[in-house]
Amino acid sequence: MSIARFWRETPRRYNLGGSRCGRCGTVYFPPRAVCPTCPHHRETLAQMAPFQISGEGTVFSYTVVHEAAEGFEMQVPYVLALVRTIEGPILTGQIVDIEPSAVGIGLKVRATFRKLREEGKAGVIHYGYKFTPVPEPESPAVPRGRGAGTPASEAGRSDRAAA
Ligand SMILES: [Zn+2]
Repeated sequence: MSIARFWRETPRRYNLGGSRCGRCGTVYFPPRAVCPTCPHHRETLAQMAPFQISGEGTVFSYTVVHEAAEGFEMQVPYVLALVRTIEGPILTGQIVDIEPSAVGIGLKVRATFRKLREEGKAGVIHYGYKFTPVPEPESPAVPRGRGAGTPASEAGRSDRAAA
């Protein structure tokens, strides 16, 4: 990718800025000018508003990459995943800070901004989002390590979705 194009896209890459349809509420990332979900697309043109995606979600699908693309040789093996965000859009990204074997469908993750790659000796460094696992909150009601019955993964989800 050219440097010019990279910088043009940078605000979106850093902010996960999408758009939301004021008519049906569907969130898009990357942002869209009209809503393809609504029956009369063109009527939504004035109703699309910028919308900030949290970057939190769950792994929807993933693959472990062993053959690296140029510039990513130092990182193999790495996990490339599709993450369904809590707002709806599906993001593609690398999952870091976890062993590839520990990644699974449904893993809770959150987008963070990391160095993606370095370009040759000129030292052009590209940043973008990667995903890191979200630690499961420990429930104070359940003694640690003793027969925890309810999966903690559902805890707090509704609070966050409402934010
Ligand atoms: Zn819509």
